[in-house]
Amino acid sequence: MNKRDYYEVLGVSRDATEADIKRAYRKLALQYHPDRTNGDKTSEEKFKEINEAYSILSNQEKRSQYDMYGHNFERMGMGHDDIFGSSVFEDLIGDVFSDFFGGRRSSKGRKFRGKDIEAELMLDFEEAVRGVDKEFTIKRTVACDQCSGTGAKPGTKPVTCRACHGSGQVNYRQGFLTVTKTCHVCNGSGFEIIDKCRDCSGTGRVVKEEKIKIHVPPGVDTDSVLRIQGKGSEGYNSGPSGDLHVIIKVRDHPLFKREDQNIILDMYISYAQAVLGDGIKVPTLYGDEELRIPAGTDSGETFILKHKGIGSPYDSRKGDQIVRVHIEVPKHISDRQKEILKEFDEIAQAHSKTGARGLFEKVKDLFQQ
Ligand SMILES: [Zn+2]
Ligand SMILES: [Zn+2]
Repeated sequence: MNKRDYYEVLGVSRDATEADIKRAYRKLALQYHPDRTNGDKTSEEKFKEINEAYSILSNQEKRSQYDMYGHNFERMGMGHDDIFGSSVFEDLIGDVFSDFFGGRRSSKGRKFRGKDIEAELMLDFEEAVRGVDKEFTIKRTVACDQCSGTGAKPGTKPVTCRACHGSGQVNYRQGFLTVTKTCHVCNGSGFEIIDKCRDCSGTGRVVKEEKIKIHVPPGVDTDSVLRIQGKGSEGYNSGPSGDLHVIIKVRDHPLFKREDQNIILDMYISYAQAVLGDGIKVPTLYGDEELRIPAGTDSGETFILKHKGIGSPYDSRKGDQIVRVHIEVPKHISDRQKEILKEFDEIAQAHSKTGARGLFEKVKDLFQQ
């Protein structure tokens, strides 16, 4: 089942303020509240939908994630809980941990989530429009194979830290107070490595190149971010791995320009075509289309080819192709063409009410009165 766009559910625009969202939610929630609808099933579903939309859009962090990822991640098998489930707390701890312990695996057995990492992926214009499967190489931190992540030279083991006797903390007296500090020898891990593993210099972790294959959904644009769960740095002590954020960059197209989901195309027509009207062939992402240029078209006029734009990675909406018509002025013409044009101009000016000659006649008339 296709999920409705959260903004649509609340009936607000994508740039709605927090206050707008709150107001819209209150109004709808009152309207569809189960207390008021006597257990009507459709209203109940609606009420749930409203609440879900509000829970995301009222939270700035979730809202910006939704703006980036949309519902699409559910289709890719990553539900909301996955997107938003890794709590800020866990992320914070993961970072503090790896900074604090210099990336060393915790010997205390606590599980820590690995860090999130980023990679950039360059796509051709049409790949971004149609979606594509891509394989590329990333670098991620994983546990060292050689020492199984302990940091100790194979055949040896980390030993209990002699400075803190394994507690990871040291106490010292300062006047009347006993102050507890993290042990500086083992950085709080409680273990000391006597012989360091050579592969990882005792850190227990190495950077490894890994090939990964991802599906890019159709409609992504430059700076869209795809989140690939579990492909960030490996966790500590069987903790979950972080995520990989793939930042999409899209190459320009020689003909088409993109504006959100619309395609803008500049087309050149002759003066005669503009005056007389004509049927022209217009390239679109989906093959050539016939476009009727009506007689008397001005330079800069736009015509819309409905639904010939780009699909959304979030929902079923599709953009249009906007054709901007320009009159091409030839730089070199033959004598014969010149002759005809001059003749044409003379007739045109004689008939024109706004042209130079028309104006001259009017002025003359004015003085003769
Ligand atoms: Zn190692
Ligand atoms: Zn210690």
